[in-house]
Amino acid sequence: MIASDVLRPVTAHPDDGVELGIDLGIRTGFGDDWLRVGAVKVFTDGSLVGRTAAMTEDYAGQPGNHGYLQEPAADLERVIVAAHRAGWQVAAHAIGDAAIDVALGAFARAASQYPRPGGTRHRIEHFAAARPDQVARAASLGVIAVPQGRFATELGDGMTAAVGPGRVPWLYRQRSLLDAGMVLPGSSDRPVAEGAPLLGIHDMVNRRASCGAPFNEAEAITAREALRAYTWGSAYASRAEGQRGRSRLVSSPTSPSCRRTRRESAPAASRAWRSWSPSSAARSATTRPG
Ligand SMILES: [Zn+2]
Repeated sequence: MIASDVLRPVTAHPDDGVELGIDLGIRTGFGDDWLRVGAVKVFTDGSLVGRTAAMTEDYAGQPGNHGYLQEPAADLERVIVAAHRAGWQVAAHAIGDAAIDVALGAFARAASQYPRPGGTRHRIEHFAAARPDQVARAASLGVIAVPQGRFATELGDGMTAAVGPGRVPWLYRQRSLLDAGMVLPGSSDRPVAEGAPLLGIHDMVNRRASCGAPFNEAEAITAREALRAYTWGSAYASRAEGQRGRSRLVSSPTSPSCRRTRRESAPAASRAWRSWSPSSAARSATTRPG
């Protein structure tokens, strides 16, 4: 990803509608497996633990403090819409519900004024304190929310204290995103949190703060769903599901027994894995990967 600060005014034919960009028209998707340009990241607010994320209501125990946006809302929206028009996938860092409103509003305007065929896969990184209506709106816009499972353990105590008990059900949703039909990726935000995928998967399932207390347990998902998030979900969110994010049986062509395994077993197994999803797994336990 590149930061939106890198975008600058560029000249293009007026019909192209390119207002901001980088040299040579490079944008999301440029490159190959060695070096690839991903989304452009737009920072809209701060953090919950630092009580700087933009909330619609005050932080717990701090009357008058509801955080703040990094820039005026109109400026953030202008950058997001301009990046969309220039062909970028936008990843908006939005943690507080007020910041999420700004990001969703910008994505909605981009979609209505400048529809892009083929889907944009715009993302909201963190989507940390999201009201129920924002889940529904994100789903309807096709926005991908990118929560960090590991934050439950590493930041859960601080986030809970910051928002107070009434808003804990908004924190780092996973279950409600899947229930709304949204794609759920796995993410660590490394180096902010530990990057090991198995730790992230563990926390997406177990949802415990460092003190051992449950962290918005209603949003826990199953191990199978968390594995799916860390593989296919993350690949889809990176527009790379064609190259990454699937598991299949691989065997050595030099071993007779493995050759037999590959010829006789792998096609059926990989077919099963390709067609696997939480819902299909529930329908048929016999087709699950081994
Ligand atoms: Zn971020």
